[in-house]
Amino acid sequence: MICRIPHSSLLDDLLRKRAHELCVQVREETTVTALNYNGNWKIVTATGETFLARTLIGADGRNSTIARLRNLLPRPARERVALQAHIPLPLNFGKRIVLQFLREGYSGQVPVNENELNLCLVGRPPTIARLRQWARRHFEIPVDQPWRTITPLTRAPVPCAHENLLFIGDAARVVEPFTGEGIYYALRSGELAAGTVAKIVRGKDRQLALREFARDCAEMYRGRLWINRLARAAVLSPRLASFFIQAAGVEPIFRSLTTKIATPRL
Ligand SMILES: Cc1cc2nc3c(=O)[nH]c(=O)nc-3n(C[C@H](O)[C@H](O)[C@H](O)COP(=O)(O)OP(=O)(O)OC[C@H]3O[C@@H](n4cnc5c(N)ncnc54)[C@H](O)[C@@H]3O)c2cc1C
Repeated sequence: MICRIPHSSLLDDLLRKRAHELCVQVREETTVTALNYNGNWKIVTATGETFLARTLIGADGRNSTIARLRNLLPRPARERVALQAHIPLPLNFGKRIVLQFLREGYSGQVPVNENELNLCLVGRPPTIARLRQWARRHFEIPVDQPWRTITPLTRAPVPCAHENLLFIGDAARVVEPFTGEGIYYALRSGELAAGTVAKIVRGKDRQLALREFARDCAEMYRGRLWINRLARAAVLSPRLASFFIQAAGVEPIFRSLTTKIATPRL
């Protein structure tokens, strides 16, 4: 496993511990810079080291170097921008996922723990400053609140199965940040890719194993992507956005919209 930055979060530590238990060789602070394919992969890193692999899994995020080096990375969509911050959890917020349509775009709100709220603002470049002002007033957050930007916010998916190359997580498909779903998809597609490699190593027909992987990945997203399309359309189409704003007057928060994505899965 080759990764660029040393891991630091609790989840990263758990994953690294599990990888060590399974005798995976982990190479941290190692950046992949070049790839060659001639039946096997030759992976070159920034320090000039090379690694050989029969099957390669691209798990390198929304700006995937692996996809770019294979000319598979779609052009990022720049029509929308997003800001994200963790702010104090408002009193009585409860265990809700909120998608709130506003005139300038939308705001997604998801509690991350007992004390913090993950707050996302998504708009178009000319409207994002007004969204930030709205958030300051609405959540009473200080003017110097640090915000992170997310680039690209979304992009077209990369087909997840190629001959000896699989894509998982954000490298394969980037979802709307407010959904708080990205880590689930990354873990689940990683699990599916591991199962696929195991099948191939045990002698299963490679093409069949790859088709099953592509089918299982599609199944993982089935019925969950419409909310991404809806959120995008609400920002880009003023008529649709105003429909949601009027509807929001009746029911400020569309509880039902997020029911499916908030439903726990095993
Ligand atoms: C601001 C923000 C907030 C988010 N909040 C949530 C949330 O609350 N809940 C949730 O589920 N999801 C959230 N997400 C989405 C979630 O972070 C991603 O969907 C998830 O991390 C995807 O995992 P991944 O392993 O596919 O990619 P990443 O987590 O992006 O990991 C890719 C890894 O590949 C490494 N890499 C990249 N290029 C190279 C290279 N050339 N060589 C070697 N290594 C390389 C990177 O350093 C990185 O470690 C958020 C995303 C953002 C941007």
